[in-house]
Amino acid sequence: MNVSDSEKMRHILEQKGLFASDNDEDADLVVLNSCAVREKAQEKIFSYIGRLPREKRIIVASCVAQSERENILKKNRAVDFVVGTHQYYWIDDVLDDILQENKRGVRAEFSHQWNDITPGLAARDSRVTGYISIMEGCDNFCSYCIVPFTRGREKHRPFAKIMEEARLLADNGFQEIILLGQNVNNWQDPASGMQFPELLAAMGEQVDVRWIRFITSYPGYFDRELIAVMKEHRRIARHIHFPAQAGSTRVLKKMNRRYTRPQYLDMIKKFRRHMPDIRFSADFIVGFPGETDHDFRLTLSLLENVEYESIFSFIYSPRKHTKALAMEDNLPLAQKKERLYELQQLQRDIQLKNNRRLIGETVEVLVTEANPKAPGEVIGRTESYRVVNFASATPKGRFTQVKVERVGPYSLRGTELK
Ligand code: SAH
Ligand code: SF4
Repeated sequence: MNVSDSEKMRHILEQKGLFASDNDEDADLVVLNSCAVREKAQEKIFSYIGRLPREKRIIVASCVAQSERENILKKNRAVDFVVGTHQYYWIDDVLDDILQENKRGVRAEFSHQWNDITPGLAARDSRVTGYISIMEGCDNFCSYCIVPFTRGREKHRPFAKIMEEARLLADNGFQEIILLGQNVNNWQDPASGMQFPELLAAMGEQVDVRWIRFITSYPGYFDRELIAVMKEHRRIARHIHFPAQAGSTRVLKKMNRRYTRPQYLDMIKKFRRHMPDIRFSADFIVGFPGETDHDFRLTLSLLENVEYESIFSFIYSPRKHTKALAMEDNLPLAQKKERLYELQQLQRDIQLKNNRRLIGETVEVLVTEANPKAPGEVIGRTESYRVVNFASATPKGRFTQVKVERVGPYSLRGTELK
């Protein structure tokens, strides 16, 4: 989502005649696109500002901007403007205010309208993988999460606009489309009420790319239609990012996640029954307030049960505005760190075991880059996001077949079949 927001800001600024510089030294204006989901991400923004050369114009945009507003201007004399998640669409006006009137200020009002902007083609980071925002905001209010406060209430993008952008990407040789939203599978067309599975079906039929993906799904509204659509359309990647957050129903309840452990496992089972080759990844939080050793063991056993392709895992970070802030949290940080380590070690073993099953198999790989450390080698990804290293002259953005020979927990190595 942040990469996509940056592309959009870049697009707006390029339309104004600015161009992107490779480094901060050469830049006249520095725009910091900030993430507030965990404290650490937020701190990074502040230390980055501290290191910037003095004479720069600085705009702090997006989530930290939205949640910290005036505090940023007070704390950092060098910052010119603070622009929230719904206001960066007017970053060109903000720049005029800075340059013409030497103004400092904050623009962070929420807007209820969907502001339709696409990054076009030139402002995109990749010519292979294209991000398409289909919704923004979140109404779920998980008790630990700042997103509903930084991104606001859910807004959904019209179907026609999504399809237009998807066709533009397909016509220009993109191979992979990633549909984006904080709660992506809750998308509905604002006019017709058309649901997410119908959007996927339309894309699967009409948009000529190899892989269509979507992040992030809430494990609540998965239904028969979605399974049927994924089964029917081979362009929809058989990989779902399906954040569980915890394996204990008691903790899930305190997190205000609206599913139980058995319900979550049941959803996974249903997908697998219809598509045995489907793969899952997820996010987990360890050390949520009141998490007992037993709760934590339930998270470990969920990992063993599902055998995810990969996971993102984090220590719970207390966030402003959230309900969990008021919950008693007396587990020492050292113990939370130990739990995180144990979780990550278990996942490492699971990935190694999963990857070993692929030895001798041939996998379809999208080449994503030349390997900067090994001349003559490239790096690619499989449908389920496994990283593959191999010697090849296939340019990035192309698909190829690779026979897997050696594996580690985080990557595969093999020989390209010609
Ligand atoms: N909408 C997505 C998640 C968006 S935030 C979902 O519902 O799953 C991305 C991830 O950051 C979350 O899945 C969660 O694992 C993590 N996260 C969010 N708030 C956090 C917090 N306060 N502390 C630690 N991790 C957090
Ligand atoms: Fe945050 Fe995701 Fe929960 Fe929304 S569904 S509140 S974005 S964790």
